Amino acid sequence: MFAEILTIGDELLTGNTVDSNSTFIAEKLTSRGYWVRRKTTVGDDIEEIKTVVQEILSRKPEVLVISGGLGPTHDDVTMLAVAEALGRKFVLCESCLERIKEFYRELHVKGLIDDPELNKARKKMAYLPEGAEPLENTKGAAPGAYIEHDGVKIFVLPGMPREMKAMLENEVLPRLGSQKFIQRKLLAEITDESKLAPILNETLEHFNVRIHSSPKGFGKYIGIILFAESGEEIERAKAFMESKGIRFEEDW
Ligand code: ATP
Ligand code: MG
Repeated sequence: MFAEILTIGDELLTGNTVDSNSTFIAEKLTSRGYWVRRKTTVGDDIEEIKTVVQEILSRKPEVLVISGGLGPTHDDVTMLAVAEALGRKFVLCESCLERIKEFYRELHVKGLIDDPELNKARKKMAYLPEGAEPLENTKGAAPGAYIEHDGVKIFVLPGMPREMKAMLENEVLPRLGSQKFIQRKLLAEITDESKLAPILNETLEHFNVRIHSSPKGFGKYIGIILFAESGEEIERAKAFMESKGIRFEEDW
């Protein structure tokens, strides 16, 4: 169950915006039992996006979540780039167009915009790669897209964090399978990571677990996250580490 995340936006590369979306997506995918093996960020550039999407697909993740660049402006080119990367046509989604019309009509009624009519920039957001299923955007205009391509589930989401989060919760997670591996966060009472290292190595040799160790500075505790396909395996690995002298405090 491995996944990749691609975030898109020039502002992420200049440092003007912190890429909080990829962290949020990674956390959700991990809690669903996916192993996020790579996160990539590129700017709003068709060629860059095409190249990186093809590279990611060549690694055959089960899931690829893409975020950013779905809006109406000239620099929002993600959907077109994804269509080109997959060798699919870029086609008008009629239901998306209706939804976009409705969205701007409502904003106009609320007095938030002057002009409710569709213009070229707004209409652009209704184009998706051929065969894509539109994903509803409950917080904004641009629909997302779900595409199954060569065994990879590809989700294309907006960049605006509140739009991305709502779409991830409502449209992406329900399309993903249930939890295959679980994580347990523990605090090891040990002052120095180098003392922990040989015990972790031994644990990895004996048990079917992945371990992330996060030092909290030199002090009393080191955070440890154990990942495994079953809670029993995690308990066995924990008991083994305790038998080697590690005392665990409460979960983080
Ligand atoms: P919009 O319709 O708002 O243009 P969009 O899908 O085109 O949506 P972007 O233009 O990529 O989204 O970004 C919209 C806003 O969301 C910007 O303020 C941007 O800084 C922010 N944003 C984009 N990507 C991320 C990210 N990975 N993490 C945090 N914020 C982000
Ligand atoms: Mg934009």
